[in-house]
Amino acid sequence: MAGRIRTVLLTALYLFIFSSSSVAADNLKSEVQRGDGIHSLLTRYGLAENACNMDSFLTLNGMGPTDFLMLDRKYVLPIKVYTYNGTSIRSTIGDEDYEKAVRIQYFNEQLVKKGIKDADYRKDNILWVPFHELYCGQAVEGFKPYTTVIPIFGEEHKNVTVSDERLKGHVYYLVSGHGGPDPGAMTKKDGHFLCEDEYAYDVTIRLARNLISHGATVYMITRDRDDGIRDTEYLEMDKDERCYYNKAIPLNQVARLRQRVNTVNKLYDKHKNDAVQQRMVTIHVDSRSEGQKIDIFFYHYEGSQVGEKLANTMLTTIKDKYAEHQKDREYRGVVKTRNLFMLRESKPSTVYIELGNITNDFDQKRLLIVNNRQAIANWLDLGLLKEAGFE
Ligand SMILES: [Zn+2]
Repeated sequence: MAGRIRTVLLTALYLFIFSSSSVAADNLKSEVQRGDGIHSLLTRYGLAENACNMDSFLTLNGMGPTDFLMLDRKYVLPIKVYTYNGTSIRSTIGDEDYEKAVRIQYFNEQLVKKGIKDADYRKDNILWVPFHELYCGQAVEGFKPYTTVIPIFGEEHKNVTVSDERLKGHVYYLVSGHGGPDPGAMTKKDGHFLCEDEYAYDVTIRLARNLISHGATVYMITRDRDDGIRDTEYLEMDKDERCYYNKAIPLNQVARLRQRVNTVNKLYDKHKNDAVQQRMVTIHVDSRSEGQKIDIFFYHYEGSQVGEKLANTMLTTIKDKYAEHQKDREYRGVVKTRNLFMLRESKPSTVYIELGNITNDFDQKRLLIVNNRQAIANWLDLGLLKEAGFE
């Protein structure tokens, strides 16, 4: 429901902007390059870091997260174009926040450096202001967004903006399934091996980055030092994943599960006195007969009320998001209990997620399309925010 209100408010806000653009001329529009997806387009303009820009982009262009960009179309970007008054950014945009002005200056300079923006705003009087500086600030009084560098996200994505601190003190153990000598479920497509562990890893690491942007403490339990966030369709199969921090992953299944549960439980005890709450999320991809489509579904341990609430909150979040972006698509995800080792032996309340059926053509789109992997991570992040009591 709250999501609906927010969409209506956002739409009203955009209509207001379009009709009263006395201060700001207009929104920036952009063409698309071959191979572009929404995420790569936003990344080019330095907008992908703030999930709110993604939402704004979808609303501005009347699109859903799984929609494709058309080469022959121009898209409205969540960037407002101001005529710089030659005095200051603050007086140009009518906002006295000095830090924000510094960030906007840096934003413009970076885009000139990247060759995306033609000239410096002090030369051509064209100032670009991203929406996340105007409409999406969830900064709590006194909190100033900052950038932290996390190498495991890879060169392209290692600079993470912590845009709010709603999840400060919340500790998350993210365990992508399998890894190391065990690729999990596998299938072949167009000559490529699709491995469960690689796709589960990419969705998990995107979720990690989202959670950190809200100030959470996040442990990537399965770690791959040279595979950061990958914006490619086919994810190369490898065997160099390690268990936190740098332990070799055993081939034997029980030993592998025991290793990661022990690792998590030790960290859990360490944070017992300083954490607001601690949760574990483990992400897998299922394997059934080819013809079977399976929507994202959840397991929790029988009798774990927190686990049950966690799973149900994430399920309803995904349900709402599908209803919002793909009205005709019925989401058939479920929550079930299962007596799995990871659920039974781990100290933090845990949700076990299956992303789909790796052998099914339709479900493969959910995994192969970069935008979709990012959308899943955004939705899971939103589900965790809700479970933690935030909207
Ligand atoms: Zn699995």
